[in-house]
Amino acid sequence: MTGRTDPCTPLDAREVEDWFAETDVLVVGYGGAGACAALEADASGADVVLLEVASAGGGTTALSGGQIYLGGGTPIQRACGFEDTREAMEAYIRIAAGANADLEKIRVYCEESLTHFDWLVAQGVVFNPEYYGGKHTNTPEYQSLCWSGNEKGWRESQAAKPAPRAHKPKAFWEDGGATLMATLRAAVERTRIRVEPDTRALTLIRENGRIVGALCRRDGAQRAFRARRGVVLACGGFIMNRDMVAKYAPRLVDGAPLGSPHDDGSGILMGIGAGGAALNMSEGFVSVIWYPDGVFCEGVFVNEQGQRFVNEDCYHARGGHHCLNQTGRKAYMVVDDAIYTKPPLYSAAEVREVGESFEELEQAAGFPAGTLSATMATYNRFAAKGEDPLFHKHRDFLRPLDRPPYALLDFSIDTGIFYPAFTLGGLDTTIDGEVRTPTGERIPGLYAAGRTAAGVPRSGEGYASGMSVGDATFFGRRAGRAAAAAR
Ligand SMILES: Cc1cc2nc3c(=O)[nH]c(=O)nc-3n(C[C@H](O)[C@H](O)[C@H](O)COP(=O)(O)OP(=O)(O)OC[C@H]3O[C@@H](n4cnc5c(N)ncnc54)[C@H](O)[C@@H]3O)c2cc1C
Repeated sequence: MTGRTDPCTPLDAREVEDWFAETDVLVVGYGGAGACAALEADASGADVVLLEVASAGGGTTALSGGQIYLGGGTPIQRACGFEDTREAMEAYIRIAAGANADLEKIRVYCEESLTHFDWLVAQGVVFNPEYYGGKHTNTPEYQSLCWSGNEKGWRESQAAKPAPRAHKPKAFWEDGGATLMATLRAAVERTRIRVEPDTRALTLIRENGRIVGALCRRDGAQRAFRARRGVVLACGGFIMNRDMVAKYAPRLVDGAPLGSPHDDGSGILMGIGAGGAALNMSEGFVSVIWYPDGVFCEGVFVNEQGQRFVNEDCYHARGGHHCLNQTGRKAYMVVDDAIYTKPPLYSAAEVREVGESFEELEQAAGFPAGTLSATMATYNRFAAKGEDPLFHKHRDFLRPLDRPPYALLDFSIDTGIFYPAFTLGGLDTTIDGEVRTPTGERIPGLYAAGRTAAGVPRSGEGYASGMSVGDATFFGRRAGRAAAAAR
């Protein structure tokens, strides 16, 4: 889907002839962030209107696996026998967020993680105190707790005691997001929140420097909504707007867009048009999936030079990130006969070459003699001792690849293999969702949350499942509360 990339300048309130409705807080977008913003604004005593371009709430959150990154010793972690602390969670997320980390957001997110868990439960979200310890993209059945990032990675585990923190609402397999949104929708229905479906926000409305509403379209007719206290933009990210991706995050252009059709950047463009700064716009989650059930974690990724480049037991977004970083974006996995009997779920990686020895394999694949074979000789020598001094793969996945024939699976993006992607950049906001200008001033009346804002997840390389829904629901709540309190 192509789309506009230019900012939407707010309409001057004097040009509004007729206000269709007036409220205290106007929330634009009924996904995870928007639902939570609306619920908290309502709980603060504000009148709330919740706009949604689709016919019902849900957004990308409803399509998601529903994993929510929570920790510090949640009842589910404790019931499953895991100790965790706020400090360990914060230390881990700081590493995961990388150089662009917003330390204040990370701090408050971790400090209030247990409260957020309780709040979700109070809305009706059910977590099942069962743990899944395998290597997967989500819990495969109804379990609510699993590992979802690189917590057990060598570098991370030295800085922060590892703990599983992905909490999926009780639901089968990938139905966690649909279950989460069904629960939040039911919670919204129990309140006075007025939901306006099939309503697309086109641009913000400004009066004397303050954002006071949004101009929308429904059934071809324009409708102006006035907000006495604040407007919360919770419109998701921009992965579906291919022109915006090309302009801001070209690295993601060849990935398969992962999201709802309305991840078109409209919220971000409205915010920029109102004077908001956008941050981290080139960053995104991009993944390639090789490991469900862990068998292929025993394989060895190599690049065009026949060299390893990552620990193959890492989280799939780190693997995807590093595969795309290789020369020519070419990446291959070496497997032996013992592994190849079990091709991984999702992965459509084709066998590029087969050989009875690594020398034969490298020759067939056109690697210079002595490259791939040297890599594999080194790998196997250490793997036999349960060691990986180069990339520190966990010994659980270390086994010499010594059962011919050997195969080279092609994970290069130009083969058309599934590289799902979504964006992590958005409006610069305070911990209370207030949108900031490039010089750091707050724009009166304007708030943003979820993937419309630059939140806790800042790095595709360090992303862990649950960080986006966790951030969207948590900071959505804070934005809703702050907007309700604004005068
Ligand atoms: C298959 C899949 C699996 C995933 N799994 C996980 C996971 O397990 N854990 C995790 O943390 N993340 C996961 N993600 C990512 C995560 O789902 C999203 O990043 C997150 O849910 C975004 O939440 P949001 O509230 O910002 O946006 P959304 O939930 O998309 O909500 C935005 C809403 O705004 C509406 N909207 C947009 N523009 C307008 C407009 N102009 N006017 C009115 N309404 C508008 C949209 O229709 C939408 O309903 C997954 C994503 C996918 C697709």
